[in-house]
Amino acid sequence: RKYLNPLKRINQEIYTYAAGRQREIEELKKVEAFRREFLADVSHELKTPVFAAQGFVHTLLDGAIDDSKVRIKFLKRAAKSLDSLDALIHDLLTLSQIELGETKMHFEHFDIVEMANEVLDQFENKVEKKGLYIGFDQEYNHPIFVYADSEKIYRVLTNLVSNANKYTDEGDIILGFTVSSGGHVTVSVKDTGMGIPPEDLGRVFERFFRVEKSRSKGRKGGTGLGLAIVKHIMEAHNSKVSVISTFGKGSTFSFKLPLSKEEDLDSTDDDEFE
Ligand code: ADP
Repeated sequence: RKYLNPLKRINQEIYTYAAGRQREIEELKKVEAFRREFLADVSHELKTPVFAAQGFVHTLLDGAIDDSKVRIKFLKRAAKSLDSLDALIHDLLTLSQIELGETKMHFEHFDIVEMANEVLDQFENKVEKKGLYIGFDQEYNHPIFVYADSEKIYRVLTNLVSNANKYTDEGDIILGFTVSSGGHVTVSVKDTGMGIPPEDLGRVFERFFRVEKSRSKGRKGGTGLGLAIVKHIMEAHNSKVSVISTFGKGSTFSFKLPLSKEEDLDSTDDDEFE
């Protein structure tokens, strides 16, 4: 064995220790930067609807309230801003709970085709009013059972379909399922909307990221948190959501879920004793 003189050994230990501490410090710095940025983002996003509502209410108090037509118009706008604020706070809470790992997951077996049908029913009116078509890529006569948190997957599906609707002016929104031999199903939501520029594709899952702020604004301004929530929900399922898109042509968002196994479906009674 090679002899290492004691001084050299101590030197080496000090070096290893210092390198470890250095890494910890870098890590803490990153967390701190993230916190600071998050706080700045949140304050900025909260300000927008508060500022708007404030403006309408103060204008009313300054005299606009006497004109009955203006009164209704301004009250409606103030209410709309407060609704956005409510949605934003709700999404922020959801996101922070998931990020902190505080949301309990409730895994169960359910039919994803049935769930997608419910989502279609929920959106049909809204989508068709815009002159869009919404449906499946083929007929699904059989259930596809998956093992996941059904409430959260419902949220994922509604977020994706709602975005498809928001960012599509003509054409259709098509849902599909691809069952793979590995015991998974890939669920996809495809639209013929405005698509996402290639340079932004990697960023749409970041909180508050919007492709050209102005573009999303005129479109019933979402909270900019929808896809961040979707991403976290899929991570909590040890899965992920992905997107392919052609700018100007449309986008497809998809995510993968594990299929229920035959024996799990047969023994649903036993589950209650777990
Ligand atoms: P928002 O509340 O703004 O819709 P999201 O987190 O759901 O926030 O989405 C982030 C951004 O990604 C959107 O602002 C939009 O620019 C883009 N985006 C999301 N879904 C689509 C889609 N189906 N087609 C085109 N762009 C999309």
